[in-house]
Formats: sequence, C-alpha cells, structure tokens
Amino acid sequence: MDENFTIPFQLESSHVRGRIVRLSSALDGILSAHNYPANIEKLVAEVCVLSSLLSSMLKYEGIFTLQAQSEGAVRMLVSDVTSKGDLRACATFDADAFLGDDKEVKPSSMDQGYMAFTVDQGVHTERYQGIVELKPEGLVASVQNYFSQSEQIATGLVVSVGKVDGAWRGCAIMVQKMPDETQAYNKDTVPSDVEDDWRRAMILLSSVKEEEMLSPDLDAKDILYRLFHEEGVRVYDPQPLQKNCRCSQDRVLAVLSGMSKEDLADMVVDGNITMTCEFCSKNYIFNPDNIQEGAH
Ligand SMILES: [Zn+2]
Repeated sequence: MDENFTIPFQLESSHVRGRIVRLSSALDGILSAHNYPANIEKLVAEVCVLSSLLSSMLKYEGIFTLQAQSEGAVRMLVSDVTSKGDLRACATFDADAFLGDDKEVKPSSMDQGYMAFTVDQGVHTERYQGIVELKPEGLVASVQNYFSQSEQIATGLVVSVGKVDGAWRGCAIMVQKMPDETQAYNKDTVPSDVEDDWRRAMILLSSVKEEEMLSPDLDAKDILYRLFHEEGVRVYDPQPLQKNCRCSQDRVLAVLSGMSKEDLADMVVDGNITMTCEFCSKNYIFNPDNIQEGAH
C-alpha cells in the first residue's frame, strides 16, 4: 500500500480533532536521492513527517518550511511543503560524527538548537513564523512543546519512521483538544466531560503500535478505526503529498549570476561549473562563459 497524504479527522463523540500523516514512496524517493547515514536518514524522515503534518494545519498558498538548526553534530534539517503537496528535505551534519551505522544521534547532536516554521506566500504577503527550542528528547517532543507552550493547545502526537521490507515509511498521528465554546457559560457540568474525552483520546492514541503505524497492510483509515472506533471517528478528504523538488536550471543560474567573477572562477572544474541541488541531488552543469554577472 502506497499512501502519501495527510487526513484530518474528528472524534464525533468527543471534543477532539486530529490528523494522520502517512508517507511511503514519497519518503523513500526523498531519502534515496541522498546518501545519508542511517541515523541522519531517520531524522530527515521525521522532519518530512512533521512538516507534512504542520503544513496541513495551515491555510496558505506558497511554501511551508520546517527548519531545525543546532550547534551540535546535526547542524540543520530542512523540509518544505508547497500548498500543492510537493515535499522535499535535506540535512547538513558533521559527517565524521556519523561514520558507521552504529553511531547514535545523541541529545548533544542537536544541542543548543531551535526549530522554526515559516510560510512564504510570495513577495507581498507576510511570513508567519513560529520558533521553538529543540528539546533534548528530539524533534517530536519539540513540536509537542510548541503546541502546548506557544499555542496553548493540548496536543498528543506520536510519530514513527522506519524501513519496512527495505523501503522507508513514516506516520504521524496527532490529536488536539478542541476549544470548548460551552465552557464559558456552563462551568459546572461541561468541563469534566471535555477532560474525560481528552484523557480517553490520549489513552487510545498511546495504545497505537509502531508496527501498525508503519504497516504496508493497514491503510490510514484502518489505523484510525482500530484506535478510535468507539469515539465515532469521522474522516475528511486526504491532502496528497508527493516528492517533488522546485529546483531548476533558471533558479541555479540566477544564484550563479549573483556571484563575483573570482568566486565563479574558483568553482570551475574541467572547464565547467557543476551545481548540485542539496534537496534532490540533481546536477546542473554550466559553461562559465554563459554566466553573466548580475543577470537575474
Ligand atoms: Zn532539487
């Protein structure tokens, strides 16, 4: 089963809404374009799942970017998602720290880090930005912290990424307590129901197993039904995601055109300048004579 999408859902008998993200061929395509060590692949997979989840919660026309930066061995993780669902990701890291698959990603690997969310809707519109400190527990804990601290929304989040039969798969399930409109004027009766609903949803969410989340034999709706069938889970239309990079010959040329003659000369190898896209590893080859300085 090849599922690449986000599905919003709601638990009809409780004040809880949620989302499930599933990535398979899109995630495998993104990671196979790189040649990262296994531990870095896992982090990039997590960032892809989280950017898919977070972008699906916003209404925007343009590009959503999730970027994690740190002073540790993992310097940067980036994943962006367009409003059309085009997804890509890359990592910058200290390669020496991750030689060999046995090298662990330690809390110090993302030390003194932060995570930023940005929406770029073009030149004339505002960029929304949320920033949160990277928790030593990892990316998922940092996102959860963002919702509870910055947004003041009670949030449960489980994320799982891994290889099944040699192919990468990723899944995230999030539940959030919906704002309770009745609470303001009916303080005595309603809140306990809301709290009970919420506790039950969190218990059900925590019962999900990694093998279910990553299983190629269970579809997203099967997983939601298994977890929440007693709550009356209502599933909305999927928002598709696909691996697609936005790089192009023109964009790379525009970058090169902004560089000085001396810098360009330093980049020439065998008479050509080769630029490799950091997101999809595609090579762009230019004859330096065809790059005009200042021609944007
Ligand atoms: Zn690219």
